[in-house]
Amino acid sequence: MLDTDFPDCLIHIEPEPATLEHLELVHTPAYIKQILSTAERDYTTLAPDTSVSAKTYLAAWLAVGACIKGLEALMSGRCRACFCLVRPPGHHALPDRAGGFCIFDNLGVAARYAIEYHGFRRILIVDWDVHHGNALQELFYADNRVLYFSSHYMGWYPHTGDWEETGIGEGSGYTVNIPVFKEMEDRHIIHIYNEVLSPIVRRYQPELILIAAGFDAHHRDPLGRTRLTEESFRWLTQMILQLSESVKSAPILMCLEGGYDNYALAASVREVLGVLTFQGRRERIPLVSTRRASEVIDKCRRVHKKFGVWTA
Ligand SMILES: [Zn+2]
Repeated sequence: MLDTDFPDCLIHIEPEPATLEHLELVHTPAYIKQILSTAERDYTTLAPDTSVSAKTYLAAWLAVGACIKGLEALMSGRCRACFCLVRPPGHHALPDRAGGFCIFDNLGVAARYAIEYHGFRRILIVDWDVHHGNALQELFYADNRVLYFSSHYMGWYPHTGDWEETGIGEGSGYTVNIPVFKEMEDRHIIHIYNEVLSPIVRRYQPELILIAAGFDAHHRDPLGRTRLTEESFRWLTQMILQLSESVKSAPILMCLEGGYDNYALAASVREVLGVLTFQGRRERIPLVSTRRASEVIDKCRRVHKKFGVWTA
């Protein structure tokens, strides 16, 4: 798909493995050592749902390294948006524990790196994977330098991300969880993002936007099973791009998370890249107000009103 549909308009950046120093921004030395020890073995089970082969450690190291390199490409002005097409995914990987197919927390490391090495003070993470990014949430739960926004179906792994999980201490109100309904369609998610993410960007004024771009909410996905089509990801990308333009063109780093149907994955990534490369003209985002989405939006506003982080 990349070769046929985007032959000339993408800058390809070859990743390098992350350094230990980078990994230790999130992960414990003992855990990193444990992952390294899987290198010589054909098969190791790290968690009931997460097994690795002899070369997984290298893929995981490169996935984090790709995010660092992508971030550096943004910082140097080489590009305005960067999509890290990596596996394994990262948003379930805790500092000392693998889970949900994730080994290292790719975007978690990227966010910490952006804070430590580039002095960012307001980073927005948008997680549209159908699963809740428990590790991303946990990492920044008490930290207002990162606002974590996630839409997900709570009936699936890891069953976290309830409304009232909103952050603690300095981070109170800086975690925004939106448990969505399983029958969610394109019009619902577009409506929800428009009503919640727009005021978040307006008020929080992010300097950097990270997107945990999982595509398992697609209706063809064997794990996700909500009702989105690839069109959703096109409109959400366009919305975030427009929102970023409203805040001094905050650079956008996207990182692949879940997505387990190859057709749906390619089709969804194609839509995202089409927007990012400005192929096809910009169209008006099809906003339709629905009762079910309105209920979700109202609930989210009610829960977050007391913090005043993004609510009026
Ligand atoms: Zn997922």
